[in-house]
Amino acid sequence: MSSQLNLVVLGKQGAGKGTQSDLLCQRYELAHVSTGDILRAAIAQDTPLGREVKSILDAGELVSDDVVNSLVEVRLREPDAARGAVLDGFPRNTEQAEALERIVGVGGIKLCIYIDLANEIVIERLSSRRVCQVCGTVYKLTDASAVSGTCEKCGGTVVQRSDDTPEAIAKRLETFERETRPLLSFYESRDLLVTVDGDQAVDTVARDIDAQLLERGLL
Ligand code: AMP
Repeated sequence: MSSQLNLVVLGKQGAGKGTQSDLLCQRYELAHVSTGDILRAAIAQDTPLGREVKSILDAGELVSDDVVNSLVEVRLREPDAARGAVLDGFPRNTEQAEALERIVGVGGIKLCIYIDLANEIVIERLSSRRVCQVCGTVYKLTDASAVSGTCEKCGGTVVQRSDDTPEAIAKRLETFERETRPLLSFYESRDLLVTVDGDQAVDTVARDIDAQLLERGLL
């Protein structure tokens, strides 16, 4: 069995997947593999992939499995993933979860962390979410960087994500229920699923995740 610590973080958009994945990566020196970030970077750089996927992301729909599966396969071969990776936003459906098992091998995924959050809170959080176009730092509407439009960390421009509109949010919630929720049973049946309450302070969610990792003997 692989000795890498590969973790899957599942949750609706706005549940805190990105934030918690970042914290996990810092704490345990893992690679943060976010398919959403990779796709948004391709769009920002106007690459052929970016041009292909822009309208799909703007509509809140899913990019094809083939595209994201190969992005992840390539990304997991990079040196920073040697100790393991936190998969954020991937897999999004059963086909992708099966592809991931093929990529990392049997026993390659050590835990799937589901950050649970009610739809009303998701809508509230996403409507007031702003992000730095350059470093991806997430801000609340009332944070100084969001008010000024300039990221306090890197000086990049802070904007609303083009898929954080009410229509795209509704579409992504619908897609989550139809495509991604079945993954909870997928990982549960492999005894790999833990659920944490996402409606808590960032530090508290992080502590809950650590407690689960400890309980499973993964730390
Ligand atoms: P995220 O940042 O994870 O919310 O992803 C933003 C958007 O990127 C999604 O709404 C999809 O359009 C696309 N995307 C990200 N990850 C995937 C994936 N694993 N499969 C298909 N589409 C994805």
